[in-house]
Amino acid sequence: MEPKYLSARSNWIEASPLALIVSKIATLKAKGISVLSLAAGDPDPSLIPREELADIAYDVLKNIPASILYTPTAGIFELRKEISRLTEKYDKIKVDPQNIVVSSGSTIAIDLLIRILLDPGDIVIVENPTYINTLYALKQHGIQVIGVFMDSNGMKIDELEDTVKKLLSQGKKIKLIYTIPTGQNPSGITMSLNRRKHLLEIASQYDILILEDLAYNYIFYEEPPPTIKSMDDEGRVIAVGTLSKAMGTGFRIGWIIASETITKKVIEMKQPIDFCAPAISQYIALEYLRRGLFEKYHLKVLRAYKEKRDILIKSLETHLPKALFTRPSAGMFLMLYLPEDADGQEFAEKLLDKYHVAVVPAGPFHPNKDHPNTLRLNFSRPSVKDIEEAVNRLAKLYHELYH
Ligand code: PMP
Repeated sequence: MEPKYLSARSNWIEASPLALIVSKIATLKAKGISVLSLAAGDPDPSLIPREELADIAYDVLKNIPASILYTPTAGIFELRKEISRLTEKYDKIKVDPQNIVVSSGSTIAIDLLIRILLDPGDIVIVENPTYINTLYALKQHGIQVIGVFMDSNGMKIDELEDTVKKLLSQGKKIKLIYTIPTGQNPSGITMSLNRRKHLLEIASQYDILILEDLAYNYIFYEEPPPTIKSMDDEGRVIAVGTLSKAMGTGFRIGWIIASETITKKVIEMKQPIDFCAPAISQYIALEYLRRGLFEKYHLKVLRAYKEKRDILIKSLETHLPKALFTRPSAGMFLMLYLPEDADGQEFAEKLLDKYHVAVVPAGPFHPNKDHPNTLRLNFSRPSVKDIEEAVNRLAKLYHELYH
């Protein structure tokens, strides 16, 4: 079809670097070449209780006829109740199940919130860098995205306040701040308690909403500070969560926690988009939570990921003693800085072509594409052995190119 038929919106984003890597890996695999991947954002499939999930899937499909039919757009009520229990226990958020909307993963939850809260041209502040799918969703909707840098304590709140003041002095209004305070993607950084409190104060002072993405709040190696939503007494924070990182990314079960007004609008907006989250997944998730599988495997998973994180850090320290990288206390990623004038995209492509190791260039996660010299490395999915070998090869290329 000719490009003239495409909408303006279809040209507002570029192809995702993640999709590019996935298709390159598939091409190599088709040639019989095995790839070591630190590129995923998935849990380790060997740590997911697949036998127990298979039993649940069997029970659900056999015994619950409704599991193959549409559900209410907000999700099945029993699951909303289980999510409210989960979020009270782990996120310290007390929420009525009526104020939870189940979505097909939290990616679409974020898109739905953009649709009901923002108009083209509105300004949203994000951490720099930030989760690429949120960045691309904002761009798709014509939103102006402003990044605020982080340090090891999360978003720099002084820089945030300066940015807000500057924009206000230019007559602009900021509608929303999007943050991933725990185990941030792609940096792995966790925001300190002080910064969380300060962020709430700034949002309150300048009347800005906060969208808190809790994707990694259950994946931690040191207990994270309380969620921002749990400290919010003004109804200023909307939270999105997901079972992807604990139960499996393929189930596509996420949710939104918001006020009555926003919940109602989200449901109205959602119906013509996907009607409801997949019913089969919702019923499986309900049983997974009811049967206590989340709790049963949670600590085991955390111990395994902590070991992998430590191995990744140790391997980087051994093979690239001068390189800078973040040291995550939560999440599934760390961010590695190549030398200042290096290009992460080029590096990632060479690494895959020559050494068959996949990593994600983190330049595109930066709203202004500053810091193209960064890479995102995942440690949850690969085995310990693969992490060690992948870093070994990565370091080889690093020394070939930069010394
Ligand atoms: N938010 C963040 C920060 C993420 O990293 C991810 C997954 N990569 C998501 C949301 C979305 O996860 P899902 O759509 O699978 O729930």
